[in-house]
Amino acid sequence: MSFDRNYKDSRILVTGGAGFIGSHLSERLLAAGAEVVCADNYFTGSRKNIAHLLANPMFEAIRHDVTFPLYIEVDAIFNLACPASPIHYQRDPVQTTKTSVHGAINMLGLAKRLRAPIFQASTSEVYGDPLIHPQTEDYWGNVNPIGIRSCYDEGKRCAETLFFDYWRQHALPIKVARIFNTYGPRMQPNDGRVVSSFIVQALKGDPITVFGDGGQTRSFCYVDDLVEAIARLMLTGEDCTGPINLGNNSEFTILELAEKVISYTNSRSTLIFKPLPQDDPRQRQPDLSKAKALLNWEPKVALADGLKETIAYFRHSLELS
Ligand code: NAD
Ligand code: UDP
Ligand code: UDP
Repeated sequence: MSFDRNYKDSRILVTGGAGFIGSHLSERLLAAGAEVVCADNYFTGSRKNIAHLLANPMFEAIRHDVTFPLYIEVDAIFNLACPASPIHYQRDPVQTTKTSVHGAINMLGLAKRLRAPIFQASTSEVYGDPLIHPQTEDYWGNVNPIGIRSCYDEGKRCAETLFFDYWRQHALPIKVARIFNTYGPRMQPNDGRVVSSFIVQALKGDPITVFGDGGQTRSFCYVDDLVEAIARLMLTGEDCTGPINLGNNSEFTILELAEKVISYTNSRSTLIFKPLPQDDPRQRQPDLSKAKALLNWEPKVALADGLKETIAYFRHSLELS
């Protein structure tokens, strides 16, 4: 087995592989000819997300919490393990920080022993409530270190620090991506994230819960586009460490998103306004110049098309349940 700029015949570890993005990434790597080992503690992921992969002899799922050491032989590591939606990462904030920090230490230790390249799923949250717009990778961010989002934001920031220190100190090949809001099939219906919440509310005819005045913005990336960028990033040369923004740079207000979801679901749902959560970023849009230049990639799926795919997925899964 080897890992040389091609996934074929390589064995790849995906932590958080039973989650939303991890399950799509696992599919993408299998399609490229890799053997995939998925390590997940199923905190927010689900065996349902990977049920269709379990019969594949190239796929293996292990129940493992990344805050504990993992001894295994692989050619490359994608570290995605971490709850990602505010209601999930705030449920046990101490565990969230441990997952990012101890998880990074263990996965970096594993990569160091194996001399294997390692990818970190970092986040646009490292920019906090950004004071520059759109966000470029050289912006240091505006993060509250003691707020209710800090367990996630600061955990991810510390993970980035660890990645760059293992790179400087141990010459480890690292790939750090700052992922912006991503959506698509296999998001959890009850994860409280805006896309999944609005779609489920619209399909059920429940009121759409807009936080604040809905004037805050996000830029939404369809999962297939994101996974393609992640897969390409791992195959870049050792000088390409990141951090690199990945996402879609079409920016929408939350009210615009609500209107689109209502229209594409033909829903009669009305809007209700709820208080804006503490430290909720006002605006967010990635500058994608670096990703475009280094990966020869750009997002292709428009919000309208991605929403329609995601609505079809939720319609089907709500009918089944
Ligand atoms: P998700 O919750 O669906 O996936 C995370 C997975 O990690 C789940 O399967 C969960 O069970 C697993 N996990 C959590 N703690 C673990 C632990 N201690 N040990 C092992 N497994 C653990 O979320 P997602 O949206 O697929 O996010 C995947 C990664 O991408 C996360 O690291 C997240 O921070 C990052 N990210 C996601 C987005 C987004 O918009 N979806 C944006 C920025 C960054
Ligand atoms: N580690 C692991 N798998 C390995 C090698 C290391 O999980 O194959 C963990 C181990 O728990 C260790 C951590 O990674 O504490 C950091 O490893 P490193 O070699 O950097 O540090 P050290 O072992 O010296 O603490
Ligand atoms: N949001 C909302 N209603 C909801 C869920 C979220 O208006 O039911 C808002 C939230 O306040 C934020 C935006 O939508 O401004 C995106 O929220 P999400 O939790 O999806 O992502 P993040 O805040 O982490 O970017």
